Amino acid sequence: MRPTYAVTELLGDGIGDELSRAIHALADALPIRLDFTPVDLSLANRRARGKAVYDEAVEAVTASKVALKYPTVTAEESPNAVLRRRLDLSVIHRPVYTIPGVPTNFRRELDLDIVRIATGGTYDDPGRAIGEDGAVSLRIVERRPVREAARYAFGLARKTGKRVTSASKYTIQKATDGLFEAVAVEVARQYPEVSHGVELFDALLGKVIMAPEKFQIVLVLNEYGDFLSDMACGLAGSLGIGASANLAFDPSAVVRVALYDAAHGTAPDIQGKNLANPTAIFLALSMLLYQIGEIAVGQAVKNVTLDLLREGVRTRDLGGAESTDSFTAAVAAEVARRLAPPPKP
Ligand code: NAD
Repeated sequence: MRPTYAVTELLGDGIGDELSRAIHALADALPIRLDFTPVDLSLANRRARGKAVYDEAVEAVTASKVALKYPTVTAEESPNAVLRRRLDLSVIHRPVYTIPGVPTNFRRELDLDIVRIATGGTYDDPGRAIGEDGAVSLRIVERRPVREAARYAFGLARKTGKRVTSASKYTIQKATDGLFEAVAVEVARQYPEVSHGVELFDALLGKVIMAPEKFQIVLVLNEYGDFLSDMACGLAGSLGIGASANLAFDPSAVVRVALYDAAHGTAPDIQGKNLANPTAIFLALSMLLYQIGEIAVGQAVKNVTLDLLREGVRTRDLGGAESTDSFTAAVAAEVARRLAPPPKP
């Protein structure tokens, strides 16, 4: 019997169906069984059923603890924002790296794990006008999500042997960013074997461009994480192939719920044409596999996907000739080959 894991599959719009087919084809090639519970988050279903769709999604994700989400159209509401709020997803982990051989404008190699507090900063306050000539917004930093993100970043560093850099504007935003750095230092003390550096955020942006090899895990507040992720993805040339983990924690800092998704959108221009690149959703699945403890399987999915890209087996958006189906078949076959038990002597 193959070990079985429950996974909620949050179905979306546009190329979502094609990506779901690709995920199922890949899952069938794995030596474990993923028992998918689908929840339809397409715009049509959200419009037809309203809040009930989110109730169903929250219940399913809370039960399975891990979920894979396909891109959804943002119309009346952002499903990502609703799920983030309702599932208390307070931290986003976004790996960003250059893939040797995949075209990019950046001449250096980059391999960053961005750990971002998913709430607060200036994003939770709509701001308000003060008379005609001024406006103000509140910057919100709370100890709990910062501590959760810091523990996650340092835990990741402990597992991988990487360094943590926290970055903010603590010299100027003394109250908010000062609190952030104080919590980072507090958590760092619990991980004495992990190296912890502190950078001013503006300096960090320059240094990531000039000396990317100095940075591994970067811990940042909400908006800084937003800026840094897009800049790093732009450098890595992989805006379309990035994936993220959205995480909620229990009081003892253990991940309670993890929702994995691709950074790209629903790509309506190529919907139904067998052109969608499934790389990002495969990398999201790889992160999910790590989370459920299937490290070797997660590693195989990531390594095979990147190895094939490197060898030129690519979909059209990356200059190749593969379709969604043929790229998926190539990844599935190679993952199955690498994970096959060695032949008996
Ligand atoms: P998009 O990412 O969907 O598309 C931008 C360009 O990248 C398009 O040319 C598209 O064909 C291409 N592209 C994107 N993903 C691709 C893939 N996997 N393979 C090949 N090419 C790919 O961005 P957009 O056009 O700004 O947004 C379209 C819709 O997606 C909007 O409704 C937006 O709200 C939604 N969106 C959803 C999410 C999400 O659910 N996480 C994220 C971003 C945008």
